[in-house]
Amino acid sequence: MSTVHPPDSDGGSESPVTAHNVDLSNCDRELIQYSGAIQPHGALLVVQEPALRILQASANAEALLGIAAEALRTQDVAVVLGAEPTQVLQARLARETLTRGPVYVLRVRPPSSQREVQVFAHRSDGVLLLELEVIPPEAPTPLSDLYAELQGCIAQLQDTPSLQAFFDLAVGQLRRFTGFDRVMAYRFDEDGSGAVIAEAVRDDLEPYLGLHYPASDIPAPAKRLFSLRWLSHLPDADYTPVPLVPELNPSTGQPLDLSHSFLRSVSVMYSAYLRNMGVKATLVLTLLKNGRLWGLISCMHHAAPRHVPYEVRVAVEFLAHLVSLLMAAKEEAEQYEYRLKLGATLDRLVEAMAQAPTFHDGLVRPATNVLTTLDAHGAALVIGDRVTLLGQTPTEAEVAQLAAWLAGRPEPVFATHHLAGHYPPAVRFTAQASGLLAARLSRTQADSVLWFRPEVIQEVHWAGDPRKPVEVSEEGGEVRLMPRTSFALWQETVSGTSRPWADCERQYAADVRRAVLEVIVGQAEALSRLNRELEQSNVELDAFAYVASHDLKEPLRGIHNYAHFLQVEEAGRLSAGGQARLETILRLTQRMDDLIDSLFQYSRVGRVELAFHQVALQDVLTQTLDLLRAHLEDGGVIVRVPRPLPVVACDRVRVAEVFNNLLINAIKYNDKTERWIEVGYEDTDPPVFYVRDNGIGIAPEDTEQIFQIFRRLHGRDAYGGGSGAGLTITKKVVERHGGRLWVVSTPGEGSTFFFTLAPGGGRVWPRTPCQSSG
Ligand code: ADP
Repeated sequence: MSTVHPPDSDGGSESPVTAHNVDLSNCDRELIQYSGAIQPHGALLVVQEPALRILQASANAEALLGIAAEALRTQDVAVVLGAEPTQVLQARLARETLTRGPVYVLRVRPPSSQREVQVFAHRSDGVLLLELEVIPPEAPTPLSDLYAELQGCIAQLQDTPSLQAFFDLAVGQLRRFTGFDRVMAYRFDEDGSGAVIAEAVRDDLEPYLGLHYPASDIPAPAKRLFSLRWLSHLPDADYTPVPLVPELNPSTGQPLDLSHSFLRSVSVMYSAYLRNMGVKATLVLTLLKNGRLWGLISCMHHAAPRHVPYEVRVAVEFLAHLVSLLMAAKEEAEQYEYRLKLGATLDRLVEAMAQAPTFHDGLVRPATNVLTTLDAHGAALVIGDRVTLLGQTPTEAEVAQLAAWLAGRPEPVFATHHLAGHYPPAVRFTAQASGLLAARLSRTQADSVLWFRPEVIQEVHWAGDPRKPVEVSEEGGEVRLMPRTSFALWQETVSGTSRPWADCERQYAADVRRAVLEVIVGQAEALSRLNRELEQSNVELDAFAYVASHDLKEPLRGIHNYAHFLQVEEAGRLSAGGQARLETILRLTQRMDDLIDSLFQYSRVGRVELAFHQVALQDVLTQTLDLLRAHLEDGGVIVRVPRPLPVVACDRVRVAEVFNNLLINAIKYNDKTERWIEVGYEDTDPPVFYVRDNGIGIAPEDTEQIFQIFRRLHGRDAYGGGSGAGLTITKKVVERHGGRLWVVSTPGEGSTFFFTLAPGGGRVWPRTPCQSSG
């Protein structure tokens, strides 16, 4: 143990400890409770009950009690204490078990001694241990003063706003209370390492605040002894241990278990270590949380040995109890507050995700984002190829690779404080991300939210100068363990690790994940609902178009007929203007009839059952061209068919409509003097048919709208006029076959309409930027 010394950490081992084997884990095996010696500020009597016969005595019995240790063997305790005090003791022994450590019994001046002692008793190992402590010469502090002091301390401690403030105050108070030169609060981490978290120190002494120590620094036996008692006191670090006489318990032949003895001698190495640090006296308080060792408060005195009287020790011990209780409550309150804040942040994120255009935007807003409350230095959001970084993080590429690696892991929430141990490439960015907390947002993809914690060394702010070389020296074979040595050792042991993630932080990651998934699922549901509604309204529209076109026909025919009758029957009586108006009515009704026909045709395409047969498309094409012969001849159009079209499964009548529409357009939308049309197909699966012309072409921005119903790119009567329904109907026919219709065109040079008559086709052929897929 190096800096904050456990009072009972007997670090001694058989092989000499040097600066190179300073790891004190070898102490873990040492049975330090069997030291067989005590400190000289008291005497120890080992007594056999019920006769109260002395079995062993400390070698200083003569000096303190006036009778040599050897002479005390087999004597009655009354020889030392006197008859009356022995009766008081006996009464106490009859009442209590005394197995939980020394209790104060009485104050006595032994008949053969000039010095008053306080007697403490406890039972251990089948014997009674009486510790007789010399009363320090200073006048004891009146109990009433101690009580008032304590009251003040507790009230102030209760009012502190944070755990840090609490410890800052506690060490200050304890320093004032005990008069020690240095008081430090020392906290153990989950991994057993520790750090000085608060310190009150005499101005001229080097501060140790912020120093960290490896787990091996406080050996397990010392930790065990700390948990057994609230207070350990070493009044004089330069003491000479006092052996027991005889050395072994004569009734068992075994060394005595001194676990609970407050006089027990500490290891030579430990006292040597204190001497190296210039420490003359120590007082160590144990901090327990839920029965487990949480930390220590260590008081050191540099000026001179310092024997803290029992009365003050009681008060300080009481304070240690209270500090432990208050600290546990404070820590819990802090954690609770942190959890509340995380919860509030989550609520705000959910709200932001609902308001933002995408959930991604909701999670990375500057005001509140995934990094807002969580105790991490950086975060990243990976959605598809997009990596968004917040705070201190690895590079975008490193984060993307990390997310891809995470996608292969089974757990939805992954947390580690030593990432490189799981993912070796992380050694390159331990400074930013030794710790990783990650929530996966997708089962199959790398989409995830990641939080990063830096290497713990990066986070340590030490009050001392960290560049100052480590103070390790061996003088005359004596080891000098110094705080900085431990700090360096600790740095080695924690390289590549971060502070661990708390349970509530893992829970937060899981909550963020759930919230995002809910938003994603919600959006998907809304989309599919919209699709269903759209589908439904399409069906209704189809039905409406069918009925409307059907029913509109009749009145329209009536208007047309009556207008026609008027024209014929009233020919002589109508003015020229009236005649012209009648002709307009007739032209408009004709036009409306055409439109209704198109609508009717369109809605019918959606409704009729297709009759699939093996159809020789070459025949269909030939017949269609025959029907269009007059048109073709009028326009002087040459039709080329490089090779006969194949036989495919399709609805013959409907596919004839497709050729008809595409050919009519190819004839119409051409202003060249030498016009041609080419009809052919590509040997793909399914085959891609095409109708190509050298006509006016279509601008890229128009290639979408030509497939919309009643959309024309030209004036109503330009290029021979048209209703703007032809391509819409063609597209629908093709789609009913499971195929696709699209166009590739260059304005001024011509267009090629492609279509397939079956689903699939691995190759999208041919596509150019100005195409439009059907
Ligand atoms: P329309 O009855 O007006 O021809 P379509 O639905 O068949 O209606 O065509 C929609 C529009 O697409 C047409 O108005 C025309 O502007 C354009 N179009 C169709 N085919 C061609 C083509 N082969 N060349 C150039 N433009 C075309």
